[in-house]
Amino acid sequence: MSISRLIAEQMERSSWIRRMFEIGIELRRERGAENVFDFTLGNPDVEPPEAVIAELRRVVAQNRPRSHAYMPNAGYPEIRATISRGLAERTGLPFTAQEIIMTNGAAGALNIFLKAILDPADEVILLNPYFPEYRFYVENHGGKAVVVETDARFQPDIGRIAEAITPRTKAIILNTPNNPTGAVYTEACLREIDRLIREPMIAISDEPYRPLIFDGIQPPETLRILERSVMAWSWSKAMAIPGERAGYLALSPRLAELAPLRDACTFANRILGFINAPAIWQWVAGAVPDATVDVGQYQAKRDLLCDALAAMGYDAPRPEGSFYVFPKTPIADDVAFIHRLMGEGILAVPGSGFGRGGYMRLSLTIDRAALERSLPGFERALRAAAKA
Ligand code: PLP
Repeated sequence: MSISRLIAEQMERSSWIRRMFEIGIELRRERGAENVFDFTLGNPDVEPPEAVIAELRRVVAQNRPRSHAYMPNAGYPEIRATISRGLAERTGLPFTAQEIIMTNGAAGALNIFLKAILDPADEVILLNPYFPEYRFYVENHGGKAVVVETDARFQPDIGRIAEAITPRTKAIILNTPNNPTGAVYTEACLREIDRLIREPMIAISDEPYRPLIFDGIQPPETLRILERSVMAWSWSKAMAIPGERAGYLALSPRLAELAPLRDACTFANRILGFINAPAIWQWVAGAVPDATVDVGQYQAKRDLLCDALAAMGYDAPRPEGSFYVFPKTPIADDVAFIHRLMGEGILAVPGSGFGRGGYMRLSLTIDRAALERSLPGFERALRAAAKA
């Protein structure tokens, strides 16, 4: 693809978050930062857990020989073994270090896996609305994205998925808790998806938001429920370290083609230019793999925002996980409504940026005081839209 075509596609299809970021800079200059309420970026606003920073200090102070050197392409064997023990305990499956490949975040995990499995024109099912990068990841490796709508509660629609599967379908990407909707897929739904997946198809479960789950709900154990599955994981959101690019790909030990897949993914990690995952952060995250930010503060902001929006008259269901709220826009034209919000200093991403017009995504990574100050603006925008 030529540079100009790539830029044009980016502008057309996936640049909403980026565009809003640039509009935000402009608005802050015009109105002052305290009058701009930025709900666009999924960039954690909290610091990493103290245990993570303490471990980072320890790893740096220890300064073990060759700390900054290349390593085996799949990552440090000790860290992979630690992670596999945790997964074996959680799922009851016989994970070993071999099934874990350390990656540059969940994005790296998704890309190496797609590179490993896709031949030109192979199909990958995406459930709409979806994280916009997925389409690029699929196309990066010659695949074709096949978009399937979710149901009214943003759960996978089993009938539609069944209809979309063809002999060319190599994978389906699942994302629970979901960006942008905050939906957590039910176990029953995942069991039905499992029934649809037959060789060579594989479920890719993208789970960077896994621990960000509210109201005491237990996230479904995708690797256990889905026999032919892999999981893309990162500590980006759980530990609030997205800039550090620490993650891994876990391949289910039940995959018949496990050995060649493992080799292909490890090779892809190298030839896509990642080479290996960030060295220092493998030691840090591997030492405290379950350390998680305080999820309560996201839940409190979710309650504040959803209650306030519902009281005004918005249709704003409470998400069960992730840190996004995905309300309906009061008019069908979500982009027009986003412009109206901009007039109030509020920056949000239109649902069309995720493939679902008539909605908007609001990120709960906004500071709580700013969230509170933004509320009158949401109300004025709603009233103005109702009058127009
Ligand atoms: N998948 C989803 C659904 C995401 O929202 C993101 C980042 O926002 C990623 C994958 C990429 O995660 P990472 O930055 O850890 O690679």
